[in-house]
Amino acid sequence: MLVGSGHRDGTSQYRRLPTEGEAVARVLLVEDERALLRALAMNFAARGFEVIEADTGSAALAAAAGREPDIILLDLGLPDLGGLDVIRGVRAYSRTPIVVLSARTDSSDKITALDLGADDYVTKPFSIGELLARVRAVTRRVSRPEPVDVVRVGAVVLDLVRKTATDPDGGGIHLTPTEWRLIEALVQEPGRLVPGRELLTRLRGSADHVDRSYLRIYVAQLRRKLEPEPGRPRHIVTEPGMGYRFQP
Ligand code: CA
Repeated sequence: MLVGSGHRDGTSQYRRLPTEGEAVARVLLVEDERALLRALAMNFAARGFEVIEADTGSAALAAAAGREPDIILLDLGLPDLGGLDVIRGVRAYSRTPIVVLSARTDSSDKITALDLGADDYVTKPFSIGELLARVRAVTRRVSRPEPVDVVRVGAVVLDLVRKTATDPDGGGIHLTPTEWRLIEALVQEPGRLVPGRELLTRLRGSADHVDRSYLRIYVAQLRRKLEPEPGRPRHIVTEPGMGYRFQP
């Protein structure tokens, strides 16, 4: 059952009444294109989310503080405060996951958004399936699942505990300690964009003064060992200028 209520402060809310024992995630949708906002709200409500809507940056900040959403989906181009200001405002007090809805083909705002603490982004136009996948990847990270012990990268099976990589014929593939650290960081959070800075920090202890090509070299080595077609990677995916994503 859906019940809705309008609010004069620029936000409105649809609430799905949870059945007993069911955890309902509360999503704050921040978007000034009304048609898109309505479509997103209906899609998330239909999938069991409790939905809070905001169509301005100031309404978003008020809703983020007052309603304590579990995740925030944030348009960057808003009429009053920019989306980047909303990220700054929320990150001043909260680690609530933020997925940016970006209309820009220029990636500089997306990079700034990630630097300010956004967790991921989708570029408009996006499918609801793509957006839901991002939301799942980001919320999985926050809910801290049990670490994965065995994972498949294409046809290669990685045992992260024993540190063995096995090809389909049962042959062993040798990965260096650095390659293990890198692939572990990626496969533990399938679908999540892992920023380059975070990966460099894992490999080198810090991302400062480290050449980005360092990361590219190790990723290329991993692809040669794990990807079915290293030249057309399907599982270790580059997000240009931002980082890498593991697609199972
Ligand atoms: Ca907009």
